Amino acid sequence: MLKLRNPVSSTLNTTTFNINQKKPGFSLRHSKLVRESCLIFHSIDDCNSFHAPYVILSLMYLLITITVITITYLLLDKLAQTSKFQLFGQYFTKVNTQELVVALTYDDGPNPPHTDQLIDLLNQLGVKATFFTIGQNIEVHTQTVQNLIANKHEIGNHSYSHQKLIWKTPAFIRSEINKTDELIRKLGVKQEILFRAPYGYKRFTLPYILNKMQKKNILWNLDPKDYHESNPEVIANYVINNVTPGAIILLHDGGGERGATIAATEIIVRTLQAQGYKFQTVSQMLK
Ligand SMILES: [Zn+2]
Repeated sequence: MLKLRNPVSSTLNTTTFNINQKKPGFSLRHSKLVRESCLIFHSIDDCNSFHAPYVILSLMYLLITITVITITYLLLDKLAQTSKFQLFGQYFTKVNTQELVVALTYDDGPNPPHTDQLIDLLNQLGVKATFFTIGQNIEVHTQTVQNLIANKHEIGNHSYSHQKLIWKTPAFIRSEINKTDELIRKLGVKQEILFRAPYGYKRFTLPYILNKMQKKNILWNLDPKDYHESNPEVIANYVINNVTPGAIILLHDGGGERGATIAATEIIVRTLQAQGYKFQTVSQMLK
């Protein structure tokens, strides 16, 4: 039973009635939105003659439903974007090991001359790294990828056009992965091709497709944000201060001028080698 004050009446008398009754003492003029809200929870008969309790309860139900759906979606979405969770398939942010090994990974290339300068430096340091390449860039800078392969670095797939693979159709996502795999295979790579989601965004469809393709998604646990930072020491110090065995370090050879990343690489490698660390490709570290 509800006690409601009659809004139509100028008196302050209260009207008492059961909310299931269809003949309460007053009705409200209804807008289209209110009527549609009512129809979600009540029959047409109930909604054709609007009564205050129905309207209030319907709006409350609608508000609660929208709030619950929104909160659930935001929580799932947050989880799907975090590096700590993926709904389907295999993904790695680091490798569980006690050995002093880490993997340097470089994204968004090939990007000459920076990628080639990096190859020269890594050769001098005796280090192999993993390059998550973008298909479009492979088509334009094929020679640089051949240079990477000739120097025994690992070539990973970082999609064809580096778009966030969320809100995309399964067909689009599959083509982004397959086109880049084909470009890498054409250059003679025979081993398993690891994938890295652009921006690390994955949500639900991408992991589902990667799982179907039996493809590993390689994320990272150390991001010194070299794309924002121009001081090599800041980039290097972040890695050196936070490194642990099995770390996957995110750096970039693509996306513009990469002098700071190259200089930071030298500091990272020399410092960690002095601490006993060895550098491996991601596939080597996963074995
Ligand atoms: Zn990227």
